[in-house]
Amino acid sequence: MDFAHSPKVQGLVDQLEAFIDREILPRARPWREAALEGQYPEFIAEVQNKAKDEGLWNLAIPNLPSDAPGERLTNAEFAPLAEMMGRFMGAPKAFNCHAPDVPNMIMMADAVTSSQRQLWLDPLLNGDVQSAFAMTEPSVASSDATNIQTTIKQDGNDFIVSGRKWYISGAKAASFHLVMGVSDDDAAPDRRHSVIIVPANSPGVRFVRPTPFLGFSEPGAPAWEIAFEDVRVPAENLLGESGDGFILGQTRLGPARVHHCMRAIGHCETLIELMQMRASERTAFGKNISEYDSIQHMIARSRIEIEQARLLTWSCAWMLDQEGFKSARQHVSMIKVAVAHAYQSIADRAMQIFGAMGGSDDTPIRDAFSWARALRIFDGPDEVHLRQIYRLEPKPSKPLAASPQILKPSA
Ligand SMILES: Cc1cc2nc3c(=O)[nH]c(=O)nc-3n(C[C@H](O)[C@H](O)[C@H](O)COP(=O)(O)OP(=O)(O)OC[C@H]3O[C@@H](n4cnc5c(N)ncnc54)[C@H](O)[C@@H]3O)c2cc1C
Repeated sequence: MDFAHSPKVQGLVDQLEAFIDREILPRARPWREAALEGQYPEFIAEVQNKAKDEGLWNLAIPNLPSDAPGERLTNAEFAPLAEMMGRFMGAPKAFNCHAPDVPNMIMMADAVTSSQRQLWLDPLLNGDVQSAFAMTEPSVASSDATNIQTTIKQDGNDFIVSGRKWYISGAKAASFHLVMGVSDDDAAPDRRHSVIIVPANSPGVRFVRPTPFLGFSEPGAPAWEIAFEDVRVPAENLLGESGDGFILGQTRLGPARVHHCMRAIGHCETLIELMQMRASERTAFGKNISEYDSIQHMIARSRIEIEQARLLTWSCAWMLDQEGFKSARQHVSMIKVAVAHAYQSIADRAMQIFGAMGGSDDTPIRDAFSWARALRIFDGPDEVHLRQIYRLEPKPSKPLAASPQILKPSA
């Protein structure tokens, strides 16, 4: 693997850096104030139009329709750019590179009919609307998707959707929800579920309450609990074939996990910068805080963890590009666990170095801490990924342990 950026990627890195310096950082404060209210700032459309004009748009959709605006970067090409966007929470929206819309667009791109494309996918590709993916349910362990109980029942030319979802990112701001539910009780467990497009203004869609995590809501895309109360949806809103739910879910989950990890590494870089700045500014017990070994070790450990996380993530991105999701599954699970833990430890250290201020709304550290903790749960909790990593661990074809040179045989 070559770690140097290609001329094309280096060009995009330089362009993105200049754009962030010019258009995003000077507006960081009102941007974050809007985020604390669970919204994007009112000038987001203006920033998006500039990004679109400069070709910094839809960078992360490898299966982008050929006539849609955007680049078809590989995962490895996108990694450094995602990291730069991730330095400032909410910034990916400026480039239409944010969750949950990007994984939703990737999932839809290969599955939509021409009328679904026109009605639902194109407005997302243009950044005109937002979407949500509604799988998790409060009444079942949703890390096992076979537990999902919401029903999608055919009734003439319609489907009736009934069930309750929660922690659905961006649900209230979305113009449609991609709802996963049981469409055929009698099918094999992996063919029981389908995904259907439910317009958010359909009669029977009830927004129950916001579901922040540790008090934190994703900027512009707060999570909500939603009740689908016998919502009638035309049959043409079914995405793919009946029973395709798990296949569709998998196509979005791979990129969703990898992009979250790439952005988290960028946010860790911001945290290190903040730690250095704060430690060099303050004095305690007669010494600058940055002179204490313990503080230096916190920053040094954070640097080691970021570099480890980045290398693992880049190698995962490279594997995804070379061999596809199936071959890279173990790596995707590895980064999901490793990056979330590194992010959580680094946010924890930043909070410690900032003292009380680290837990206030005055820095992005509290957001990082909450988001890092959430990352250990959403898109599959740690335990589910660790189980997957163990199961995919190659079994030795010629076990070393059988050799008397390695293990002393029992007498
Ligand atoms: C901020 C945030 C945003 C989210 N956004 C979305 C969204 O947009 N759309 C959506 O559908 N969902 C979303 N979720 C929900 C998220 O994907 C689920 O919370 C996650 O899949 C876990 O499901 P659960 O909460 O039902 O936990 P459960 O499945 O009940 O699991 C709880 C715990 O049980 C243990 N456990 C589970 N399985 C195993 C195992 N095999 N081995 C050992 N231990 C195990 C683990 O400790 C796990 O954390 C979001 C969640 C958060 C926090």
